[in-house]
Amino acid sequence: MTQKPEVNQDECIGCTTCVSACPVGELFAMNDENKAFFKPESVDSCCENQECVRNCPVQCIHMVDRS
Ligand code: SF4
Repeated sequence: MTQKPEVNQDECIGCTTCVSACPVGELFAMNDENKAFFKPESVDSCCENQECVRNCPVQCIHMVDRS
């Protein structure tokens, strides 16, 4: 496991698709501005199968190296 998803919040339309698309569940949440974010405390649970990346309708989720 070397990567994690990251949301470009400038492009997020707040559809919540990533929240429900994640096969692990509860790894994404919405902030006060209705933009999605990947919960940093969940990084070890991410399976990296990229369902979030594939299902985001505006392609604003990208995999980045874990720091
Ligand atoms: S699927 Fe994409 S546009 Fe929809 S809430 Fe998630 S990051 Fe935002």
